[in-house]
Amino acid sequence: MNFEEDHRVIALGAHPDDIELGCGGFLSKLKSKKAETWYVAMSKCNNQFSEDEKDTLVKEQACAAEVLGLQNCTIHDFPNKELPEYRREIMDIFNELQGKLNPTIVLIPHIKDPHQDHSTVGYCAIRTFRSGETILQYEILRHGSATFTPNLYINITDFIDTKIKAIQCYASQKVKRKFFDEDSYRALARTRGTQCGYEYAEGFEIYRMYW
Ligand SMILES: [Zn+2]
Repeated sequence: MNFEEDHRVIALGAHPDDIELGCGGFLSKLKSKKAETWYVAMSKCNNQFSEDEKDTLVKEQACAAEVLGLQNCTIHDFPNKELPEYRREIMDIFNELQGKLNPTIVLIPHIKDPHQDHSTVGYCAIRTFRSGETILQYEILRHGSATFTPNLYINITDFIDTKIKAIQCYASQKVKRKFFDEDSYRALARTRGTQCGYEYAEGFEIYRMYW
């Protein structure tokens, strides 16, 4: 893939933080190569927060987007953990994005991710984007995510600190999930880098690629 081309990249996630965790380094790198990017997540996860804490993730995502230099961010309001019930609506959203933005690269959660929201977004994307887009599945490190086998590595050595800084915007998740810290995500990037000869890397599984 030639990153010097004028890429139009859509990153799709179920929840705010999926995209930062899975491909925050790559997105930051693409921005540095003057790619146009769009960030679209499906749930604000407000059903997981009290009324007082409403839109916590929306605010944390805005912080992360600023760190990564991302504009064009949209977070829809489907309920967390219930995305399989909304496949039709999600595909309608993706269809509209496809028609309007005509992307060259689409970044998605793995279609076999054990979280039902993640796999739903992945499957809806591969059903919708069928017009010559390269589709890459990103890795979301969490409990039970042990089966990811990358076949594409992106060197993010120059972007790992930015990625970690973006992840740190999600203070609410650090409280809820023990593994949600710098050590985990830096170690994963170092591991993926070690597997391919870079210092730090993000791994992807190619669903479909156009060179
Ligand atoms: Zn998620």
